Parts: sequence; structure tokens; C-alpha cells
Amino acid sequence: MQPQNSQSSKPFMLATWSFSSNGCSLAWPNLHSGGDSLDAVCTAAREAEADSKVDSVGFGGLPDVIGRMSLDACVMMSPEKCGSVCAVSRHLHVTDLARLVMERTSHVMLVGEGADSFADSLGIPQTELLSDEARRAWERWRSGERATRPTDQGVDSGKLFSSPSPIGEKHIPHDTIGVLAIDTRGVMAGACSTSGMPFKLSGRVGDSPIPGHGIYVDPEGGGAVATGTGEFVMGVSGSFLAVECMRRGSTPLEAVREVLERIERRHKPLPHQQVGIIALAPDGRWSAGALCSGFAVTIADASGIQSVAPEWILRPEV
Ligand code: ASP
Repeated sequence: MQPQNSQSSKPFMLATWSFSSNGCSLAWPNLHSGGDSLDAVCTAAREAEADSKVDSVGFGGLPDVIGRMSLDACVMMSPEKCGSVCAVSRHLHVTDLARLVMERTSHVMLVGEGADSFADSLGIPQTELLSDEARRAWERWRSGERATRPTDQGVDSGKLFSSPSPIGEKHIPHDTIGVLAIDTRGVMAGACSTSGMPFKLSGRVGDSPIPGHGIYVDPEGGGAVATGTGEFVMGVSGSFLAVECMRRGSTPLEAVREVLERIERRHKPLPHQQVGIIALAPDGRWSAGALCSGFAVTIADASGIQSVAPEWILRPEV
């Protein structure tokens, strides 16, 4: 299915990648019966965080260059209502933690040990974040083997970890879960959660937890979430750019194209370097696009939950 600037009806969920369908399924009944969009996006992200088969989010995510896990997440409802955590190393449900930053503090972002201590102070139990499978993948990567990863239900490009060095990572796939929802009252919320780039340098944080880069929600313009090579998205403030385009009158498709074409022009990505982006306007129109093939989005509405190809791909031949 190739949706064309699709129009959704309320309530509605739009998420990156097909692995988000489990989380959307979990969140949908409550959203459908009048629940909050913020609860919906947090429920969907939490499910991916707990799923050890998802190797890019939460438990099961791949670690950094020294085998240490760190998680990033953000929730956003408006420029005034946003919370984020980066480089969390002892707590699993970072989307909930980002929500607590938003709801219980006057700050937007907590980082590293400060974020973990905040979770401790709220009595949130600590969790081992590195799964046995992820540890083995790291050991294979460290010893120079090429490690395959599960495909995204047939739509992932099935790329290999081909880089011996995180600095030279040019073909390593990495897939943030990003979720946007509009509830029956018309309130929009967004969330994203990631373990970041596999085998990244310790301390590296990408676009995902940074409002305006990996995620942005503004009731005046809509919402957007990005996935893929965070450094590219950060270079163009990708999610802010998409929402700002919609605020100024662009359709979601035009907004998505503007972000991806700007990334192409400025960063000149290598053939298999990926960025995917989803965009949802306040009136329910939505779109999704990617630099190259392999990206998928999940939608949840009254007709069910399905994963579909993005509306537009900049380099479909790749
Ligand atoms: N964008 C995320 C990052 O660069 C990774 C991803 O989407 O998988 O950390």
C-alpha cells in the first residue's frame, strides 16, 4: 500500500518501523475508547523497550564500543511540554522516565548518571539492560565478524554490520521507535526510544532524545519523529523542520520531502545510509518518507493495525 498524504480520523497512531505494531496493538484499545494520546505513545514505546527481539530499543538493544548499554528517550506534546533522558544505563523504561521529567520537574532533559539517579529517587527498580544476545553480537563485532541482525519483517533492507569501527559506521542500521498519536479529543503526543547507534563511541547521543531533532510536536503544526542516522537528522533539525513546514502550510508529504532532500543536499549520505521520518498534521493528514528502501511505518486506526511502506523514498533504487 502506498498512501498518498493519507487522511486519518481520530483517534490515530503512526509509528516508525513494523516492530512497533506490537506496541500499537497494546496501546490502541485504550486510545480507541477515549484514552490519552500520551498514554498511547508511552505504552507503545514501553512494549518495544521490553522486547528483547528488538535490537535497537531497550533490553535487547546493542551496546556501545565497550559493550555498555545506554538508552535515550523523549516525550513531547508541545514546545512547553516536553521531557527527555539521555544515556540512561540502569533503567529500562526510559520513555516513562522522560515523561516523569516532563511531569515532575521544571527541566526538559536529564543525562547519564543524573537521569538514573532521578529514577532511583522515584523508586524505579534498576534493570540489567544488556541481553545475552546483544552481548554476543557485540563480541562478534569486536572480534571483527560481520553480525547479521533480524530483518524488519521483510521490509528491512537486511543490511549487515559491516564496519570494524564505530567511527566509520556507515552501513550499520539502527531503528528508533517513534510514535505519534492523536486522541479522541484531538490532542497529539509523541514519544521515541532508542539504544542509539550500535557500537557507538561511549557518550555518543543521537537525535532521538533531543526535541527538534529526533522528535517534535507542536499543536500549531503537528508532530514528526525521525529514525536512522541521527547525525544527519541533527544537522538539519529534522523533526522541527518537518513540523515548521506544516505550520507554514506544507502538506505532511511536502514536509517529509523537505527534510530528506535537505539531508541529501547537505550530508550527502552514502547509498545505504538511512533516515526515515513520519509526520502527522493536527487535522490528521500524515505521511512518511525515507532516504532509501527498507523503512516501514505502522498505523493504527479504527480499521486495524498495519505496517506499510512509506509514501515517498528519495532513492528507491537503493
Ligand atoms: N536515530 C537514532 C540515533 O541516531 C538511531 C535510530 O533511529 O535507530 O541514535
